[in-house]
Amino acid sequence: MRGTLLDKVWQAHSVRRLPNGQTQLFVGLHLIHEVTTPQAFDMINARGWRVAMPERTIGTVDHIVPTLDQRRPFLDVMAEDMLSALERNCREHGIRLLNIDSGHQGIVHVIGPELGLTQPGMTIACGDSHTSTHGAFGAVAFGIGTSQVRDVLASQCLAMEPLKVRRIAVRGRLGRGVYAKDVILDIIRRLGVKGGAGYAYEYAGDTIERMSMDERMTICNMSIEGAARAGYVNPDETTFDYLRGRQFVPQGDAFERATAWWSSMASDADASYDDEVELKAEEIRPTVTWGINPGQSVAVDEALPASADPEALAFMGFRAGQRMQGTKIDVAFVGSCTNARLSDLREAARVIRGQHVAPHVKALVVPGSQAVRAAAEREGLDRVFLEAGFEWRAAGCSMCLAMNPDRLEGREICASSSNRNFKGRQGSPTGRTLLMSPAMVAAAAVAGEVVDVREFAAAEVTRGR
Ligand code: SF4
Repeated sequence: MRGTLLDKVWQAHSVRRLPNGQTQLFVGLHLIHEVTTPQAFDMINARGWRVAMPERTIGTVDHIVPTLDQRRPFLDVMAEDMLSALERNCREHGIRLLNIDSGHQGIVHVIGPELGLTQPGMTIACGDSHTSTHGAFGAVAFGIGTSQVRDVLASQCLAMEPLKVRRIAVRGRLGRGVYAKDVILDIIRRLGVKGGAGYAYEYAGDTIERMSMDERMTICNMSIEGAARAGYVNPDETTFDYLRGRQFVPQGDAFERATAWWSSMASDADASYDDEVELKAEEIRPTVTWGINPGQSVAVDEALPASADPEALAFMGFRAGQRMQGTKIDVAFVGSCTNARLSDLREAARVIRGQHVAPHVKALVVPGSQAVRAAAEREGLDRVFLEAGFEWRAAGCSMCLAMNPDRLEGREICASSSNRNFKGRQGSPTGRTLLMSPAMVAAAAVAGEVVDVREFAAAEVTRGR
């Protein structure tokens, strides 16, 4: 068939049209983790059901794992119970679990791609909002709730509403010090945190095409923050080069056959879209959130708008007209499934090399996976961070969600490379989160306040695509 990638993947995985207008979609890969599965397994165990396709289900542990001391049993009894339940359920249902001692543990949206589990043309589901990350490979990937996790465990299918497709084309060269994180924050700001409702976002244009897979993952990861049900980039040579040789990817002739099929799933040049948006890369500047949702952002050197939401201003302690530049921070966090891959760590390290974290700032780097951590250590990035005064932690979600010991205290302000700045997101009900790129977080850690990374690290920041 011809059409968009979404049309093709949808069609290829459609089992049947349900009487209520939804589609019963086959799920090619079901990623599960410790937080959203205990109840789902309880529901299927109570009925005496078996997991329909354990070979298409992968267990991961990330949200609750401590990043300082991962010895078992965990000090947090609830965390220990959750992981024990996942271990038991995976064992009883024959599901592969990428546990802490596997060498492959990490944030679910980091390890899926790095192991080659995530492939173009797939449908992927996971009980976590940021499953859209996997769309960077040309997969159609949905975050699902606990009852849907139960449905997928029991049937390997999901009932889904049809989606419209909005093509977001970014064209031109990004300026120095402007990253994928700035692009997606800019997109969400322009289209709104509810603008993507009912849509899948297709990211296109030469700026996106020049991006690495890590950068495309950052973009797709935050699709959900703009309310898009999924986000994807059409697969191309960059995708295939990334996947070649990875553990779960077909090898040899089978890889060549796979790339031919993957290529055929990309949107056709004459595909029609429900909406199209164009952005100029040159207009995007380093971006920082000032509010309590990811759409409330400004360029770092721009004043907060006069129309800024009073509730957000009051919570954050900011005022309309002020600039984020110069805002004192207490904590700096480089981590999360948005920005804790090797290239993110390299960019952050590039900014702080030879400098030291401000005395009043607690700074931590939490690699997205054990593999990212090991690769970074092989390059000596751990020493760069440690010598600069950062803490170098084990892999996990850490302070992105604070379902573990890493959390803000009181009214602390955190410069964070994560994806959500909701009230209480980082563990303290009154804590405040400023979302930005890893390079901006690193610069803020050293300066002790929000700075423009283009000025702070004029020589070091060489990026720009
Ligand atoms: S890093 Fe944050 S957003 Fe990503 S999977 Fe973990 S908790 Fe969810």
